[in-house]
Amino acid sequence: MRAPTASPDLYASLSDDVVASGSETISVPTPSTGETLHELPRSSADDVHDAFARAKLAQLAWARAGFAERRRVLLRAHDLILERRDMLLDLIQLESGKTRGQAFEEIFEAVSVTRYNALAARKVLHGRPVRSGLPTVATSRVQFRPKGVVGVITPWNFALSLAAMDVVPALAAGCGVVQKADDQGALSILALRRAFIDAGVPAALWAVVAGPAAEVGEALTDVADYVCFTGSTATGRKIGEKAGRRLIGSSLELGGKNALLVLDDVDPATAAANTAHAAFSAMGQLCVSIERIYVHQKVAGPFQLALVERLRAAKLGSGLGFGADFGSLASAAQLARVQAHLDDAVAKGAVVLVGGKHRPDIGPWFFEPTVLTGVTPDMLVYAEETFGAIASLYLIGSDEEGVLAANSSEYGLNAAVFTASPGRARRVADALEAGSVNINEGYRGSFASVAAPMGGVKQSGLGRRNGEAGLLRFVEPVTISSVTGLLQLPRTAQEYEQKAPLLVLLAQALKVLRLR
Ligand code: NAD
Repeated sequence: MRAPTASPDLYASLSDDVVASGSETISVPTPSTGETLHELPRSSADDVHDAFARAKLAQLAWARAGFAERRRVLLRAHDLILERRDMLLDLIQLESGKTRGQAFEEIFEAVSVTRYNALAARKVLHGRPVRSGLPTVATSRVQFRPKGVVGVITPWNFALSLAAMDVVPALAAGCGVVQKADDQGALSILALRRAFIDAGVPAALWAVVAGPAAEVGEALTDVADYVCFTGSTATGRKIGEKAGRRLIGSSLELGGKNALLVLDDVDPATAAANTAHAAFSAMGQLCVSIERIYVHQKVAGPFQLALVERLRAAKLGSGLGFGADFGSLASAAQLARVQAHLDDAVAKGAVVLVGGKHRPDIGPWFFEPTVLTGVTPDMLVYAEETFGAIASLYLIGSDEEGVLAANSSEYGLNAAVFTASPGRARRVADALEAGSVNINEGYRGSFASVAAPMGGVKQSGLGRRNGEAGLLRFVEPVTISSVTGLLQLPRTAQEYEQKAPLLVLLAQALKVLRLR
């Protein structure tokens, strides 16, 4: 195994960028051994307030700098991320326990959203004239004003790419950011941020704080002008309630129990290979991972055989290179959750088709990719998000049965359908209740489509990141109207009586001319 490009000196230098005035630190372990990777400074509520005050000052200048300057800086950051990719890949792997391939997906996503937002911001957010309902009497323009300083809260699982998906459009729109990083993943975020600072983003404009949610997270949502939250549905609901009370906006990217339909016209080996990746990339610790597999009974036999064979042959490992197919679970808490879901299911009669074992021989939190059959509604794994290492396989007799089963979840984040027929794929995709549907892939088609909105329906969230919707979150549209003076609008009863017939004629003419 080659030596990492990341080193304790780098961890210490990155940690210095956390806004934290005290000397208290949090020990953050690395999943490959469970030993301490680095000491993360702990911020206080006062540090959060200071970070906001400084970000506000920086934001005023950043907003005035204009689209062209922001685009220049963000495109430079794009190039720096690519130049520094080996170091970033090492950090992601060391912090999360995921494989090089899955870490690479994070980097690729981060540069994609950076490029998209740098290039799209002006087109989406520039001020523009809109047609007045009173042509010749008044003219109107819409301006999009940055909301101010955004609070961004991210989880541990895809720390770098999820940070980019919220922070970069906020910066492109002219906002500042105070980000509460999860303890695990903070180094990757700080290294990503460094690329943006070196590219020309003012250091105070994107502040990172760390520490307990009850103090640091709460302080952040108390003062932010808008909140972007990515995490569990339970926490998202609390943050949405608080944002509602403060009458600020929020985007809530929450949990999922994502379903995959394998129809009866697939090649079973290809479908099984794609299913293995869709369910167990990042060891299933990805919001859009597949946890429910609905297979048509006509192909279930060969599909199951191919899936078992594929997962048995897969290599688990933690090296800093492209040497392993699957990595580690991220923490002791994740291992405990996966083990609890498995034990509960097996105790109630589920059968382990493949996997099912903790693998301390590889690393403390390694767990085999596990597929269960015979899962019933009384088991935790049936409807609750496991968020790691376990997928359940069910048989279906028709496309309709599969759609009904997939839609029976309270979640609606991502779904997938595998079929050789484009027509069937479209019909099933149209009927699935999810914020994204992937055809013949688990999640990467939609995840990589950074120009398209990403988010959940039902209990999987509110609001959208990515695409135009992802940028529009960060601005207040303001309408500025001016009367031309060519015609006096009515003010008195008599003037209304005189001009009402004219306004009726105007409404009729506008409809005939198809003018909105
Ligand atoms: P979590 O809700 O426990 O924590 C997420 C973040 O919120 C952490 O940084 C945490 O410290 C912070 N937090 C917790 N309570 C808070 C509070 N009251 N105020 C402010 N901040 C608070 O989630 P988790 O277990 O870390 O992450 C896993 C969950 O995230 C899964 O449910 C997964 O599906 C979801 N997720 C969703 C997406 C998406 O895009 N929809 C992406 C990744 C993960």
